[in-house]
Amino acid sequence: MAKHTAPVKKNETVTLKFEDLTHEGNGVGKVDGYPLFVPYGLPGEEATVKVVKVNKNFGFGRLLHVKVKSEDRVEPPCNVFYQCGGCQLQHMSYDLQLKMKRNQVRNVMKKIAHLEHVPVHETIGMNDPWRYRNKVQIPVGERDGELITGFYRKRSHDIIDDMETCVVQDEMNDRSVHAVRRIANRLGIEAYDEKSDRGVLRHIMVRTGRETDETMIVLVTRTKKLPHQEELIRELTETFPHVKSIVHNINGKRTNVILGRKSKVIWGEEYIHDTIGDIKFAISAQSFYQINPYQTKVLYEKALEYAKVGKNDVVVDAYCGIGTISLFLAQKAKKVYGVEVVPEAINDAKNNARLNGMDNVEFSVGVAEKVMPKWKEQGLDPDVIVVDPPRKGCDPEFLQAMIDMEPKRIVYVSCNPSTLARDLRILEDGGFETKEVQPVDMFPQTNHIEAVCWLEKKMSS
Ligand code: SAH
Repeated sequence: MAKHTAPVKKNETVTLKFEDLTHEGNGVGKVDGYPLFVPYGLPGEEATVKVVKVNKNFGFGRLLHVKVKSEDRVEPPCNVFYQCGGCQLQHMSYDLQLKMKRNQVRNVMKKIAHLEHVPVHETIGMNDPWRYRNKVQIPVGERDGELITGFYRKRSHDIIDDMETCVVQDEMNDRSVHAVRRIANRLGIEAYDEKSDRGVLRHIMVRTGRETDETMIVLVTRTKKLPHQEELIRELTETFPHVKSIVHNINGKRTNVILGRKSKVIWGEEYIHDTIGDIKFAISAQSFYQINPYQTKVLYEKALEYAKVGKNDVVVDAYCGIGTISLFLAQKAKKVYGVEVVPEAINDAKNNARLNGMDNVEFSVGVAEKVMPKWKEQGLDPDVIVVDPPRKGCDPEFLQAMIDMEPKRIVYVSCNPSTLARDLRILEDGGFETKEVQPVDMFPQTNHIEAVCWLEKKMSS
């Protein structure tokens, strides 16, 4: 076999033109046919790049200077954008972000699902793609004897403490984090130190209901006790009338997982509320709840449109979380069955059904891949199945159970186009036809992509 050598060397500076964009948002430029992936490079741009990594068939570069700028290059509004690992696309016009996401979905439909002709619609974006996040989880650390808060520098656990404000975050959350930091500093509350596994305050989590303006503050400590608890509560509640709940969460483990198992409400309510469309939700500290409430409504409405649920239809909502999609569907359906692996989420789901006076929903705790075959055995015969799995997609056993149930229609909501495409191939081979795919931008300024997909049972010949 001929031995190839890359035409570039590590640390060399090269000039190139970016021709393409990866789904992570990196520019792709070639040197003698050898592709270099370069963060922050945009198609059409000419730039000088420092080669930082050389593999056999491709390498990575760092953008040094853009000689010819793309019209899609914009000034990132965040002062720590190039350091922080949170957003990847603030240097790119929103228009290009939406195009890039649609292209990514199109590519996987062709390459992984082998669906050349399925319509992939233009990504539905936000009118104002900033300050959309309803939840922040921010690490706490220490510098020069002071408690600091900030996101981690890319691929590290160093806290960036000079972030002025997080521009994708609800303003209320931002202000609450600053207030906790200020008060904690004054009271002398110690920050947790990852290296030694000592200290107290690890994370501050804040979540605000978009429609209700109700805020929950969660203080995560290594220790069982939250020092100066009463003063902290008094100051926070005096400063912020929006605060409806303050929770102390204990995480004594040496781990990257943010919340520990144990949560205690130390002031106010156990839940905050929010509404999406006509449905009200109670959300506790540990609940999964979509982080972009504006686009969640758009996503769920699309899912509902694709599901075409009629008043005699029986529907399954798999991976149902706290029942958000289930309750949306239950407004139209005869009966909805939800399944979800986290028991606390199912408790929330049941509460939410009661809160909305809905008695045509039934929720079960369990892994979808075990519960679905059991339902099938028991004779459950759904007309429509909606799935919204985590990034790793659906389990093969689950897909088989869905195929065996022969629903008229499947709606697949996905936060990972690659596993979506993989699963669509299996469903196509199992007798379903993919009709349409609709990308919805749930996470502007980041390279995350959400898509909702409509499948119909093929007529058997
Ligand atoms: N549809 C919900 C939640 C989607 S997130 C919403 O829109 O809010 C995916 C959910 O799948 C999570 O709640 C997760 O706990 C759950 N999950 C992950 N693996 C699962 C499995 N094997 N079986 C059932 N649920 C699972």
